[in-house]
Amino acid sequence: MTKYDTALYAPLLWTGESDEVLRDVTLICERGLLVDIVAGRSRGATDSGNAAIIPPLVNAHCHLEFSQLKQPFRTNRPFSNWIGQTMQARRENVDAASSIRAGIEESAEAGVGFLADVKTQSTDCYPEAEEAGPEVILFQEVIGLTDEAVASQRELISSFLQEVGRFRLGLSPHAPFTVRPDLLEFCVEKSREAELPLMMHLAETKAELELLAEGTGELVDMLSQFGMWSAGMYPAGTRPLDILTMLAKAPRVLLAHGNYLDEQEIQFLADHPQMHIVYCPRTHHYFEHSQHPWQSMLEAGVNVALGTDGRGSNPDLSIWNEVRFLKQQFPDVEPRRLLKMATINGAKSLGMDTTIQIGRPANWTMLIQKNSEAKPMTSLQNLLQAEVWAHGDQN
Ligand SMILES: [Zn+2]
Repeated sequence: MTKYDTALYAPLLWTGESDEVLRDVTLICERGLLVDIVAGRSRGATDSGNAAIIPPLVNAHCHLEFSQLKQPFRTNRPFSNWIGQTMQARRENVDAASSIRAGIEESAEAGVGFLADVKTQSTDCYPEAEEAGPEVILFQEVIGLTDEAVASQRELISSFLQEVGRFRLGLSPHAPFTVRPDLLEFCVEKSREAELPLMMHLAETKAELELLAEGTGELVDMLSQFGMWSAGMYPAGTRPLDILTMLAKAPRVLLAHGNYLDEQEIQFLADHPQMHIVYCPRTHHYFEHSQHPWQSMLEAGVNVALGTDGRGSNPDLSIWNEVRFLKQQFPDVEPRRLLKMATINGAKSLGMDTTIQIGRPANWTMLIQKNSEAKPMTSLQNLLQAEVWAHGDQN
């Protein structure tokens, strides 16, 4: 990787460390590290124009294998029908490596610095990280309901955990309705042994809640058709809280969606800071779910990150577009709240602190105001009108 000795002038810098923004500063970098932040425009500094620098954007939940899709699946419900479409798309995709590469390239262009992907394909499908591209963290998907599937998934997990090298890893037991409780326990145990994070879809649909509580509904019908459902897998009255209780033993947990978590469950998350929510705003909107409790979660002290989910439910993989969508839907929300979710909260869910600090790697996302008539970026408020320009990892 290139080593930079460079100075970059920025009209606006939000380090993520506090709510404060710095104006008219130059960032001095040496050998990939930020070594100083000085007032004004230093001689010889690269001028970034009407730009703002923020900590790198983080996509905390994605399925890159569907990145070849031009648009989300036509039918969003019933959810079991949508799942059928994803399974078909996976079967029909003869070149998953190209889809994954396309998704990574798209994310790089969208200024994403870190991306947590649910991996179903071989690790060989993932290219080497590029300087301007995101670091991809691989969460091996785990699905198993029958004795045979559970046994083979246990083997898969053990061999996945031996994979060494270029990626950071995690496990992704898919969802309560596709992972038998004993297999989930196994994932938790392995995550403790290997000190790896878990990622799980939880409380995503009302159908999932019905399956847990009553053992009925469209998801039970779908699994029965495949001969995979066993009545009594969950005792009557099971709730997402019971799943959260199992997951809480893992060192770190990312919960994708959490659309239908109730107050008590949100409090449980607040009491377990190793558990994080990944809210996927436009995917949530696509499925026409009830209002997401992300604001109550944040107010309770839960760390809420943002994800795009895959292109089967979202038109693109841009986290900045998630931010702009939220700003449109919730015009009164404080900009810093959205910025945190898109950057440092995502990093926290991945076990990192990416606030911009002297002595740390020079790794950030740059936003630029493309419309020349727009006001200069002097505050976080008008920063939200900006376009993503680039993610620069100057390591
Ligand atoms: Zn997902």
